[in-house]
Amino acid sequence: MMSEGTFEKIINELSQLNYRNRILLYNNNECLMDERLIEFTRVTRDKCPHADVQIETNGILLDVDLAQELMNAGMNRIIINNYNTGNNPIPSIKNFLAEAHKLSLSPKQNITIIFREKNEVLSNMAGNAPNKKGPASSIRDFCSWPFIYLPVIHDGSVPICCCDFYGDEIMGNVNEDSLLNIWVGSKFRRVREKLLRNDRTFSLLCQKCDWHDGILDLIARSPFAETFSRIASQI
Ligand code: SF4
Repeated sequence: MMSEGTFEKIINELSQLNYRNRILLYNNNECLMDERLIEFTRVTRDKCPHADVQIETNGILLDVDLAQELMNAGMNRIIINNYNTGNNPIPSIKNFLAEAHKLSLSPKQNITIIFREKNEVLSNMAGNAPNKKGPASSIRDFCSWPFIYLPVIHDGSVPICCCDFYGDEIMGNVNEDSLLNIWVGSKFRRVREKLLRNDRTFSLLCQKCDWHDGILDLIARSPFAETFSRIASQI
């Protein structure tokens, strides 16, 4: 688990930058297993009052009281990935839905439930997903992740992207350097230069990865998504 000291250093740096974009209090872990999540949410909201704070969970440990506590602490969005068959809620989500009327949310807060198939196959997560193999050879296609996300794993390491949850391709460590230095540093710059040329051969992870995104996906996940959708609705 990430130490409180590492977490506070990250949030303090974001606070000094007056950071106003998205802060995800998880990576590929089940964040509700960490009993410090409510306190971490409170600290994040306190230090970054304009940020969009989110979590994603499988919902097994979630109930309405916990959701309300997280929202009261300053969470903006909870995404629940309900893994089951045939769009059926798992027992905890069934209870959650039955009691959802008790929730009191502000207009800036929402809870989304995504009904996923239990054996759903998504990206191969740079070869780390147990249910999908990588492409036979490195694909030539763009990937936007190192342009828009800076993940930090438990020991403060900053991996190349959120798929690198074992920390195989490290760009820096927040305990040794600032977030900003790592983000604009030579390692990330090299990764971006290669990906802009659709070249994945420079990285053992990118070589094995089947993720690719077209320009529309890129826009949808960018901080400008809202502006683009407003323009699109006026065309
Ligand atoms: S191509 Fe590389 S940077 Fe992009 S998601 Fe895959 S491993 Fe991550």
